[in-house]
Amino acid sequence: MNAAASPTLLLEHFLKQLRLPTLLRDYKAVAQVCAQERTDYPVYLLRLVERELIERERKAAERRVKSACFPVLKTLESFDFTAQPSLNQSLVRELMQGEYIERRENILLLGNSGTGKTHLGTALGFSACSQGRKVRFFTVTGLVTQLLECREERTLKRFHKQLERLDLVILDELGYVPFSKAGAELLFEVIGQAYEHHSLMVTTNLAFEEWTEIFGSERLTGALLDRLTHRCHILEANGESYRLRQARKRSNGKPSSRQDSNPQE
Ligand code: ADP
Ligand code: MG
Repeated sequence: MNAAASPTLLLEHFLKQLRLPTLLRDYKAVAQVCAQERTDYPVYLLRLVERELIERERKAAERRVKSACFPVLKTLESFDFTAQPSLNQSLVRELMQGEYIERRENILLLGNSGTGKTHLGTALGFSACSQGRKVRFFTVTGLVTQLLECREERTLKRFHKQLERLDLVILDELGYVPFSKAGAELLFEVIGQAYEHHSLMVTTNLAFEEWTEIFGSERLTGALLDRLTHRCHILEANGESYRLRQARKRSNGKPSSRQDSNPQE
């Protein structure tokens, strides 16, 4: 390519080769602005490089959120703490900072169905993603199914290696469905491994006394609770179900069913 004949063509070719898409997209527009403002060359370069960096960060965060596999995207802004007064709000806000992950501490979210456990778990996970941390969300049932499949296909080791690289693993809905002995043992391995490598967040509607029923063995449950609750933050939501409350609010003062309503309406 002849640089003298077409410097911009060559520049664009090099920027592509160097994988600097934002520079490629913006260099002309930023040059115009800088010319108008009479800024010097280092400032021009700085502005471009800054844009490239910001865009790279944004894309990386997007990728982290995608690979975390959240079922829905929920944030703390949409969480109404007044609806769940038993919940330790200041602890939730502190955990949003993500420092517990550096210390490899765990979170246990306890509460009945509809009390916002999945909402909070997702919000905490999302916040960890935006802080540059690698997160993966599983429902317990989904994870156990995946573990059993991996065992069948002899890919368990690879799967564990993938988990090892994460900073935070979220296990949602422990206790809704009981699992087989093999499933319990495989899940136990994941929890044991987390103890060595990363933080774990578990949401559950079970009281500790009920865990044995789910895992089958008292010895296994004891060992598991021991690992999980060592260095652990416990968040408890024991208010009423948010869904139920909303449904009640909606139907307040209104006829309770279609048959009761005025057909003329
Ligand atoms: P759980 O996982 O404890 O069963 P969810 O987190 O799935 O409960 O909550 C059920 C629904 O109610 C979700 O849509 C969630 O966003 C909403 N929700 C629950 N608690 C609150 C709250 N305190 N403020 C706002 N929305 C809430
Ligand atoms: Mg849930």
